[in-house]
Amino acid sequence: MRVISSFPLINQANTFSALEFGALLLTVNNRLSREFHQYYDLAQQAKGLTVWETPQIFPWQVWLQRYYHQVLTLTHPDDNPSTLLNFPQEQSLWEQIIYESPYRDTLLQVPATANTAQEAWKLWHAWRLPLTHQSSLIAEDTQVFLKWAQVFKAYCQKNNWLDNARLPDEVARISISTRKKIPIPRTIILAGFDEYTPQQQEFFTLLTQQKTEIRLFSAKREIKQAVRIALSDTAKEITIAARWAKQRLETNLAERIGVVIPDLELLRDKVVQIFDGIFHPEAILPGYYTPERAYNISLGQPLVHYPLIYTALLILDFTGGTLSLTKIGALLRSPFLGEAEQEYYSRGILDAYLRKYRESTVALDRLLAAAMVEEARYYCPALSYRLQQFKAALEQLPIKQPPSSWAQRFTHWLYLLGWPGERSLNSEEYQVVLAWHKAVQSFASLDQILPSLKRNTALNKLRRILVGTLFQPESAAEVPIQIMGVLEANDANFDAIWILGLHDEVWPSPPSPNPLLPIELQRHYGLPHASAERELAFARTITKRLLTSAPTIVISHPCRKKDSDLRPSPLIMHLEPILLETLNIALVHPYAAQIQLTSNVEAIVDNYGPSLETRIPIKGGTALLKDQAACPFRAFAKHRLEAKGLEEPSTGLAALDQGSLVHDALRFLWEQLKDQHTLVTCSEKDLQNRVAKAASKAIDVQTKSRPQTFTAKFKAIEQERLEKLLLEWLIQDKQRSTFKVLHLEKSQPLTIGGIHLTIRADRIDQLENGHQVIIDYKTGKLSLRQWEGDRPEEPQLPLYYVAHQAGAIDAILFAQVRRGEMKYLGIAKEQGLAPNTAAKSLAHWDQQVVQWQQILNKLATEVAQGYAAVIPRDSKSCNSCPLPSLCRVGEIEEDVSKDRDDHEAS
Ligand code: SF4
Repeated sequence: MRVISSFPLINQANTFSALEFGALLLTVNNRLSREFHQYYDLAQQAKGLTVWETPQIFPWQVWLQRYYHQVLTLTHPDDNPSTLLNFPQEQSLWEQIIYESPYRDTLLQVPATANTAQEAWKLWHAWRLPLTHQSSLIAEDTQVFLKWAQVFKAYCQKNNWLDNARLPDEVARISISTRKKIPIPRTIILAGFDEYTPQQQEFFTLLTQQKTEIRLFSAKREIKQAVRIALSDTAKEITIAARWAKQRLETNLAERIGVVIPDLELLRDKVVQIFDGIFHPEAILPGYYTPERAYNISLGQPLVHYPLIYTALLILDFTGGTLSLTKIGALLRSPFLGEAEQEYYSRGILDAYLRKYRESTVALDRLLAAAMVEEARYYCPALSYRLQQFKAALEQLPIKQPPSSWAQRFTHWLYLLGWPGERSLNSEEYQVVLAWHKAVQSFASLDQILPSLKRNTALNKLRRILVGTLFQPESAAEVPIQIMGVLEANDANFDAIWILGLHDEVWPSPPSPNPLLPIELQRHYGLPHASAERELAFARTITKRLLTSAPTIVISHPCRKKDSDLRPSPLIMHLEPILLETLNIALVHPYAAQIQLTSNVEAIVDNYGPSLETRIPIKGGTALLKDQAACPFRAFAKHRLEAKGLEEPSTGLAALDQGSLVHDALRFLWEQLKDQHTLVTCSEKDLQNRVAKAASKAIDVQTKSRPQTFTAKFKAIEQERLEKLLLEWLIQDKQRSTFKVLHLEKSQPLTIGGIHLTIRADRIDQLENGHQVIIDYKTGKLSLRQWEGDRPEEPQLPLYYVAHQAGAIDAILFAQVRRGEMKYLGIAKEQGLAPNTAAKSLAHWDQQVVQWQQILNKLATEVAQGYAAVIPRDSKSCNSCPLPSLCRVGEIEEDVSKDRDDHEAS
């Protein structure tokens, strides 16, 4: 066999001349193919041409498929040509074979195993492994793979299918066939290949025997010395590389700069964030879009990560009848639904409304019912109309149907909800929509492999295609900076290159042989990733190539990754080390700093909102003063501006819901019992019945607002829990001195510090002496310290006390209703009114009342004056507050600590 490296070399100028005469240029990847097209076009323009024929430049795999399909179009159906499977078809076939095999139950991840098997099949053919001859020596995994491969081959034979692993052999066979109708070009130029598999070597050798001339593209450049720089971590490397590139472009706008990153797949998001921050700082603004960035990343991201596709999948997932609350929110706020712009406000309110119930899922019927309420602020007529059509289309769905029929339904469902929205799409979004249609077509092509699927399986198949499709929108203009992985940098044509991340853990990369092929065989035949020696040799070749890929080369490596130290790759140790100070890098300010630099900042203390109209009662009751004590801004925002945090879904019951259940159950129970005498005299059975009824009634109240959470099973569990809790609690009430229940949740007006409130005590008991005890139920842990200080944590009971005729109140009590920690806690005028209550002397009581009156008056006056300073009582206040994004306390704290640092530094 003729070794590829013995084929003659050809430079760029001669390559372009050969292309003009019909030569075929095969590149190792898409990026290089695109680049050759661009350079060829520029060369034609430089010659003064205005039109020219498109040159034959293709990535290797694309050309094989294209050639085969051309041959198919000219082949008579009677010749029974094989159908070439596409990638999703092959993948599905492997999955199907594994699902049908007896080993299926031992595998956790069938799709991942199918991918490994598909890869092993490809390597087997590309590297001509003599696999079948060694069957007695091979491991169990390989034996299993060989069985799957046998079935795969049989399926292909039976159905006359051709897979991509064997496509080069089939094209080679056709090319020497006397019946071939598509001639192979007389000259083929190969560009960017670091190595050739035996299959490729055979292919090209065969072509040379058919008088095809094979040439190897060679880009010789003037090389200056490459340098090496150590930087603290990867983020710093990316930042300095971006600033270096910016500086070079500012000096010479015509430069072409490459940035090569071995771990690009893992670092893609960080790279985008840092490069945007440096080249397009305005990208942080909401809704920012630029069709032309200064850089292009050759590695696309999975199609499923694009917001348009995410919305499409949400719609399709909703065909199951429910979606999680988080996903419903994303759907309602998506701009890619019909009339999204027109109804964006009411859909946002609808999202907030549904969150109020904190159900983890929302049913289609519930969303529809809410969207249709005409008098509500969340009324969404256009959405409800679309949801009705959508719902009707889901009726009488077949349980199973072919992928192509599902594809039609998917498209129809998206249409019904108005996807991709009413606003005109930008170039990137438009390309994403086209990519979506292509993915749906690929899914529809699975008919040949999977004649019939259930809805869920169909959706999973489509999702896997979207996850597996890497997509990078093309920009219209050529961009000066190309960011790429090491394998894509082959034969690149740059003025300067920065290669980052070459530390000893990734370069050379650790071996990762295919687990389904015998390891010895992989090593013997030198398969990619088979051994450390193979990886070292490969990394050496690539490094050598990269070091001659541009006149100016900077190579960097990080010194740290989390807690571990990193060293430079041994392959770059020979390069001259330089320091950061010697590099020419652009000075870049963050966008916020850029804006601030252009402005004169005037500090204004603004702690007051408008004062309160005294005649108007304010909403919030005791919670108002509780919030004012916790943080004046919180009280102002919640009770004056009516700002609310968005509720988060919770699985099961949140603390707030549990508290409501206990409050309701105790109220229902005491409505029946009425006094302590009944409690202590009724039989155990009777008490249990009353408790059960009260618990059941409380659960019914919650079920009305949270039907999805309160399933029959959940209700049974809650019923049991509540009954036990109530029975345990009643022991406390049995131990108290005689009382009857006077009021339950009784509202009463109160004027304090110039504001009018309505307050409501959980329970007021009357003692034998006619005096009263005020009780506040709590399910959290309590302490009497919560009543102390200028800004008490729990001012409710002091407020009730102040609101009543002080002389008639004998005790104020917290009731801590918690399993295993049941207790009354409070203060009383006499010992023995309730367990755990401290008796206070009359003088002490009077003193306490005066103190509370002063504190509560002061808080109420603050409210009346509109005092709204962002001064939380302590960090605990902010922990449970839903408004940090409104008050921006984080930024205030940052400023304070910055001022403190500046002060300490000066
Ligand atoms: S987050 Fe803290 S500072 Fe901000 S409103 Fe809430 S309690 Fe006040």
